Amino acid sequence: LLTIDGLWKCYGGDPVLRGIDLAVEPHEVVCLIGASGSGKSTLLRCVNLLETVDDGVILLDGTDITAVNADEDAVRRRIGMVFQSFNLFPHMTVLENITLAPVKVHKQPRKAAVEEARALLARFGLADKAADYPDRLSGGQQQRVAVIRALACHPDLLLLDEVTSALDPALVTEVLALIRDLKHQGMTMVIATHEMSFARSIADTVCFLSDGILLEQGPPDRLFTAPEQPETRAFLHRAL
Ligand code: ATP
Ligand code: MG
Repeated sequence: LLTIDGLWKCYGGDPVLRGIDLAVEPHEVVCLIGASGSGKSTLLRCVNLLETVDDGVILLDGTDITAVNADEDAVRRRIGMVFQSFNLFPHMTVLENITLAPVKVHKQPRKAAVEEARALLARFGLADKAADYPDRLSGGQQQRVAVIRALACHPDLLLLDEVTSALDPALVTEVLALIRDLKHQGMTMVIATHEMSFARSIADTVCFLSDGILLEQGPPDRLFTAPEQPETRAFLHRAL
């Protein structure tokens, strides 16, 4: 589904991503781990075309989305992204937040969009929040709405960046449960996270980034128990 090949990204001459190669298969869940500043968010932002890349290619179903003639809107329609700060529109209700893009961007009839939004809210235990404004919701509820808002656009690929790190520990569980549910539904996801136990339990593949280099990747059972690189070992020792 997604193939990243030799990706370089610099900020003002400083390389932040240095030759990243990564392949994500349909229905695969990839977790990005690594120290703060290692480049996890930048990598996700490049995939979603929020950043220009300096070298390398990003292929979505074989099409280079970094090419100058790529259709950025079409790419963003296929890729959903959720951030650490939920970025809900404060002046819109939960229902309006979720239906905005399906109606405005995807030209879905409003009635169908509303029905689907209500179904998603019900599925994730938020049916009674549809008419509320975001500030009436807990952080965990807001973050679940942010994920639902991304799902309402039927992405082929979902990018999640530290979606639990702004939450109280008590609220983390409900967001992680939602993400687990999505995995069982077969959603393809790339997830940047500091939650090692979560990464270990949900990932098909864990990628360890260090200073913009994808130093090591593998299935979680192997990577967490028998890391091959000293840097990975040192990071896990600190993080676990
Ligand atoms: P964290 O775990 O703290 O979220 P991260 O792995 O997501 O870290 P990035 O946010 O990708 O790391 O940052 C990688 C490097 O790029 C950092 O050194 C950061 O300072 C730098 N950086 C990120 N965004 C910018 C920007 N807009 N301008 C300049 N430098 C940036
Ligand atoms: Mg980050």
